[in-house]
Amino acid sequence: MTLAFIGLGNMGGPMAANLVRAGHAVTGYDVTGRGPEGVTLASSAEQAARGARVVFTMLPDGPILRQVAAQVIPAMAPGAVLCDCSTVDVTSARAVAEQAAAAGVLALDAPVSGGVGGAAAGTLTFMVGGPAAAFALVEPLFAVMGRRTVHCGDAGAGQAAKICNNMILGATMIATCEAIALADKLGLDRARLYDVVSTSSGQSWSMTAYCPAPGVGPASPADNGYRPGFAAELMLKDLRLSQMAAEAADADTPMGRLATELYRRFVEDEGGRGQDFSAMLPRFAARSRGD
Ligand code: NAD
Repeated sequence: MTLAFIGLGNMGGPMAANLVRAGHAVTGYDVTGRGPEGVTLASSAEQAARGARVVFTMLPDGPILRQVAAQVIPAMAPGAVLCDCSTVDVTSARAVAEQAAAAGVLALDAPVSGGVGGAAAGTLTFMVGGPAAAFALVEPLFAVMGRRTVHCGDAGAGQAAKICNNMILGATMIATCEAIALADKLGLDRARLYDVVSTSSGQSWSMTAYCPAPGVGPASPADNGYRPGFAAELMLKDLRLSQMAAEAADADTPMGRLATELYRRFVEDEGGRGQDFSAMLPRFAARSRGD
């Protein structure tokens, strides 16, 4: 299949490389002018998109997605698919889908989880919103770049699934870290707490698969000096998107709001930028109740 890939950064680069490895002709574009080996570089987003059956985008945020979509949609043939894999606000995803539909182009929002490691290994999870016909066409390509794909519903449903998941993740990571810091102060060994919680009702992915305490549970960024992994500033980005969506939908999300504020402070005021999001544990461990 003739494919285009716009945004060849930390995620998009390895994803495009996996499509090339699977035998697809991929024309790419990135404002940096760089792309992985095997991707034919175009001089603009429009040029990359022209003639492509599927145009993938993997961009930093909603405003940039809207800008790129406005450039590529007029260059795309009716029936071609614009598949955005970035994490953006639900409103931008829906606006792009509407603009595409007006031009006869099919749009999918297909954000991923799995990070840079998953992008390189082709083991991402795709959460997809958009029409079934577009999903059926792109599904085999998701299978090249990922291990699991869920069709979540209409336009915006993929982004909705992603931010709901990450709002749970942000809140459970904070709850797990503050509980471990409390256990420290109560004189309870972290490994014993892990043994109990990981098989009890307090367990979550944050404790069992990504334990924020070094030397406890399976290997995680905590065992690597809290190098990401999933950086705290990316968690903050996703939490902010969850609160934008909650605002727009008039949903009451007090835990999500507090998690957003704690990650904001951590990233902007407390040196958390560049650290894994599980580095909330040393943050709590160093604090007292009055701080
Ligand atoms: P990145 O900054 O490495 O890549 C984005 C790329 O887009 C850059 O190479 C940039 O030059 C390019 N770009 C910016 N404006 C452009 C334009 N107008 N036209 C063409 N290219 C343009 O970021 P990333 O880590 O690859 O993340 C991409 C998206 O994936 C983000 O939305 C992020 O939230 C999401 N995401 C990232 C991770 C992760 O672990 N890095 C995990 C899941 C989801």
